[in-house]
Amino acid sequence: MRRSQLERELSQLAGFDAPTASLEQYRTPGDVAAHLCHLATLYDDLDRPVVDLGCGTGVLALGTVLAGARSVLGIERDRDALVVAQRNERQLLLTSPPQWIQGDVSSPPIDCDGVTVVMNPPFGAQKTNVHADRPFLRTAADIGAVSYSIHNAGSKEFLTAFVGEHGGTITHAFSLAFDVTHSFEFHTEGRRTIDAEAYRIEW
Ligand code: SAH
Repeated sequence: MRRSQLERELSQLAGFDAPTASLEQYRTPGDVAAHLCHLATLYDDLDRPVVDLGCGTGVLALGTVLAGARSVLGIERDRDALVVAQRNERQLLLTSPPQWIQGDVSSPPIDCDGVTVVMNPPFGAQKTNVHADRPFLRTAADIGAVSYSIHNAGSKEFLTAFVGEHGGTITHAFSLAFDVTHSFEFHTEGRRTIDAEAYRIEW
């Protein structure tokens, strides 16, 4: 599927019905998800099984299927988000739909190794949530041959150190503008742009 078509399909998918602030539930916009999935096809990373850590309403997992992945697992601890992910999946009429599992990313409920990880972890931007991305990164280092992840702007120094300590290499790093619509009470504007960064890491 062409990147522009992928973006159209992913942009139409539903986001969180009632996002939970403490879980930092922001859905990845269709254009950003399409960009990552497209990059993954260029590097043949979707030839391996794919695991979406904290899959939320499923945009990254579903994007990888549309981009050609044949075996995709989405792990998410919020049951309500998984209900939306399944609704999104039905809308796409896929022949090889993802498997959805409710669980915590720090201990994946299924044995997986040598996979391609995709994830948009909580940024840890709130006081109660500092370092919320760490379990995601640890699991990516543990089970991933390669990972694609989205982080808040200014993460490069930390990520370079973390990836180095875990024997990995950052092969791509680029900036993104991440549009979020008003979701939580503490957001005063209806819409705002978050400056984010995306990484491809070989573990
Ligand atoms: N991947 C989705 C959602 C990103 S928001 C997308 O790209 O649109 C981050 C998601 O991680 C939320 O759905 C949140 O519920 C989930 N999450 C946060 N901590 C988690 C944990 N420890 N285990 C599993 N899921 C978690």
